[in-house]
Amino acid sequence: MSSADKPEEIPADEAVTVSFKDLGIAPKILKALDDLGYETPTPIQARAIPAALQQRDVLGIAQTGTGKTGAFTLPTMHKLAKGRARARMPRCLIVCPTRELAAQVAENVELYGKYLKLEMALLIGGVSFAEQDKKLTKGVDILIATPGRLLDQFERGKILMTGVQTLVVDEADRMLDMGFIPDIEQIFKITPFTRQVLFFSATMPNEIKRLVDQFLHQPVSIQIARKNMTAKTVTQRIVRMPSSDPKQKRTALRWLIRNEDVDNGIIFCNRKRDVDIVAKSLTVHGHDAMPIHGDLPQSLRTTTLDRFRNGEIKFLVASDVAARGLDVPTVSHVFNYDVPNHSEDYVHRIGRTGRAGRKGDAIMLVARLDEKNYQEILDLIKVKEIEEIDIPGIEDFPKDGGRRKSSRDKGKGRGRDRSRSKSRKDNASSDDKPKSTRKRTAPKRKSEETAKSEKPKAEKAKTKTSKSDQPKKSSKGKSDKPKEDAGFGGNMPAFFKRDL
Ligand code: AMP
Repeated sequence: MSSADKPEEIPADEAVTVSFKDLGIAPKILKALDDLGYETPTPIQARAIPAALQQRDVLGIAQTGTGKTGAFTLPTMHKLAKGRARARMPRCLIVCPTRELAAQVAENVELYGKYLKLEMALLIGGVSFAEQDKKLTKGVDILIATPGRLLDQFERGKILMTGVQTLVVDEADRMLDMGFIPDIEQIFKITPFTRQVLFFSATMPNEIKRLVDQFLHQPVSIQIARKNMTAKTVTQRIVRMPSSDPKQKRTALRWLIRNEDVDNGIIFCNRKRDVDIVAKSLTVHGHDAMPIHGDLPQSLRTTTLDRFRNGEIKFLVASDVAARGLDVPTVSHVFNYDVPNHSEDYVHRIGRTGRAGRKGDAIMLVARLDEKNYQEILDLIKVKEIEEIDIPGIEDFPKDGGRRKSSRDKGKGRGRDRSRSKSRKDNASSDDKPKSTRKRTAPKRKSEETAKSEKPKAEKAKTKTSKSDQPKKSSKGKSDKPKEDAGFGGNMPAFFKRDL
């Protein structure tokens, strides 16, 4: 396909008349779908499944929530039901940008394949490689991985790509955001030319179009219209903040929690550091809150999510990457502690509440310096304004008093990661980068979220006003702070203890 050919947009809620059986899916998978209560395919499934079964490449332009995971897993599993994998030679490779998404895809594969005898392995941070390696040695049909982990193990000779019949790339635009495009290109190059490609992306920026043009062979293109946008069941409101002062924002957040009818909530921050601070602050003030972001060990992230799902903790303080794909059916409130830098993230964030027809509330703190990003959100969701909540006396809420002025207050830091620019990939990640790439682009091993949420060095230096505010540096320039410290396990600097 030439990137100029724009496929026709299909409404996400278009009525589908075919059944999974009509699509030719194997009876054992049909039984699993029946167990799950899936009655009909979603529009993307109805189109992608037949094309994929005919061995065509598929380009699916669709967001999370459209059933895109089924669109690539179901036909792939159907085909894999015949035949057997050989040692270290996966037959299908599914590449996802984040651990959470990879884990979610794996969960779907398990559910859909419960009556099949397919072997699956998962190569993501936080999941023991030794165990996955054992599976690889025996032979896996489906290997689900984040790009860096996959290339690491490939370079170490632990995986052979010659048996790959289907390559799935999920959420390609998120890969771009996170600086993974060179890795994806490499993965295309090391898999057999004859493999089928099922490629999914919510948006089609130029870099993604270029990849599609280069690596997909006459794909069937399916575009599902963006659900415009925000569910009617979600009440959206904002609070006009007199400043971007973090302490003032935390106080406003607590006021909202006290004065709203909150069962539970997800609080979104733009930076991992603020995720930790806000979670700690809420805890200090007597709320059950836990942070979730890409620097935290996977085991802790999984436990935190489970605890939130089963109601043990009331508040999840999250970054965008960690929260992506996060499926918790009952969330009464979403708080945008920060206005997101990408307007689409607003839609993703507030989509965590008001699910499955339930009522939900989304409240965002908006300071003067957020105006541009706020306007972009209004443009995207096609509304002129969002209802405002007045918090009495907000002007007098305490401030950090200049000790830890955020970069925003200094009029800096905005636009830092606004563009989906190439420079991101130089900053990028990761514990998820292959070693060779890591050496070239990112000397320090960082989390998969780094590209999105970390400050450029120069700016970092300017905002470094308090020593106690920073993790100690070792002689190698690496942070001595243990990873868990970035979350909840370790000691908080004295400054925070005083001020949260
Ligand atoms: P996805 O866009 O793949 O993240 O899927 C969104 C949600 O829709 C997931 O919770 C799936 O379990 C669910 N889902 C996917 N396909 C169907 C279907 N055909 N019928 C009902 N639910 C589905």
